[in-house]
Amino acid sequence: MNPLFEKRPVLIAFSGGDSPGMNPFMRAAARLGGNLHDVPVIGVMEGYAGLVRTLARLESGEVTLDSLREEILHRPGIFGFHAKNQHLVHLDPESVSGLVVRGGIKLRSARCDEFRDDGIRARVIQMLRGLGFRAVIVCGGDGSLAGARRLHEESGIQVVGVPGTIDNDLPVTDWALGVQSAIENILQEVTKIKDTARSHRRVMVLETMGRGCGELALLSAIASGAEYAIIPEDGFLSGDRIRKLAGEIEQSHARGRTHSIVLVAEGVRMDRHKWESPAWMVAMRLGECFKHGPFKEIETRATVLGYVQRGGSPAAFDGILAAEFAGTAWQAIMGTGASGVTVVRNGGHKLAPFDWQPDSLERAARLQKLRETHRALSGY
Ligand code: ADP
Repeated sequence: MNPLFEKRPVLIAFSGGDSPGMNPFMRAAARLGGNLHDVPVIGVMEGYAGLVRTLARLESGEVTLDSLREEILHRPGIFGFHAKNQHLVHLDPESVSGLVVRGGIKLRSARCDEFRDDGIRARVIQMLRGLGFRAVIVCGGDGSLAGARRLHEESGIQVVGVPGTIDNDLPVTDWALGVQSAIENILQEVTKIKDTARSHRRVMVLETMGRGCGELALLSAIASGAEYAIIPEDGFLSGDRIRKLAGEIEQSHARGRTHSIVLVAEGVRMDRHKWESPAWMVAMRLGECFKHGPFKEIETRATVLGYVQRGGSPAAFDGILAAEFAGTAWQAIMGTGASGVTVVRNGGHKLAPFDWQPDSLERAARLQKLRETHRALSGY
């Protein structure tokens, strides 16, 4: 028997969009497995896509279940990462060393449409059963966690989902891995842009990520001192709202202010259309308003912050959150055997069932409180 698989290893996958904090999570999951439970952790390269590709190797006859297990045993860590066609890699201690401060995802992530196919998923499940995994951990955003839930419900295999997204759009958890790191990134960019805004009497409009959720923009506005935050939860951005915003900015300039920073979440919609870049639209329309107002010299500029928000070293908070999520996952794996999502709510960590639906009013109240705090700080 293969000594690695005698211990019934845990499989770990990262799926969907990357976020800082995923590498520290991989390290924590592998370390806790080895140090506390003597259970090895095997990583999948490129998430569900790596599973589907491994299935293809199996079904083409390139490998058998036994030769796959041997490959994983004999090419661990760095050897596995560099081996062509190997998608399942034993995460030995060296392979996770140094990851606590590294952004990105060493195992890489991917989107995988094949995994949405019921037939393909059923064959992947058969392969996972055949290999003899104890449990599967999937770290990613809402799509990845939906896939994790289906994997569990259709197989009966224990699956633990771990929220990893900078968008903070998962209502089950107060924080997902990467949100705080993204806020740090945005804070640094706003600080730089403020220098140039101040030098020219400019209104700088910066677009943040967050998909349909405005928390990243609002939290970043509070952290960075950006005066205005436009978020999708406030509804369509009508011409009236733009004129009102322009009026508020003009009033602040009348009080002596020389520059303003406006954060726009990428999910903001205008005129019921999805624009390529809401920041460019807001900057253009604000500029038109200023041309007809008392401060014709105010210029507007737009910057789409884009992928710089996702990179760089994880914030300390995300390193700690990664360790706590990994602790919750291992507690479930070695204890209750329950499946679900690791969450932090009001400072407490737990595993929430996949079908748990938290009170939506709680989240709305949190957003409202953030709005009020931000408004009070900005004084408009
Ligand atoms: P994120 O996890 O960042 O929200 P996506 O929504 O693109 O990213 O989802 C990532 C991957 O998760 C998809 O490419 C697909 O492989 C898988 N997935 C998403 N939704 C489902 C689903 N309903 N059933 C099965 N797999 C899914």
